[in-house]
Amino acid sequence: MFEELKTREPGDNPDKKFTIKIICSWCEKDMGTKEAEEPGETHSICPDCKKKFVDEFEENKNTNNPEKEEAA
Ligand SMILES: [Zn+2]
Repeated sequence: MFEELKTREPGDNPDKKFTIKIICSWCEKDMGTKEAEEPGETHSICPDCKKKFVDEFEENKNTNNPEKEEAA
């Protein structure tokens, strides 16, 4: 089992991970790279979109959860 895994590794260091691209899910901006256990790319959220998203989220939160006037 472990030997099988080992042969799949490209080289010298068995602990070496893949360097994959980080793409913003919202605007598809290239956000650099990170290490991962599988090749490919990963999606994240860039600071700009995060700001936007968080702002919208906060707004939605306020809209969805209006403070009820508990005037019972
Ligand atoms: Zn973005």
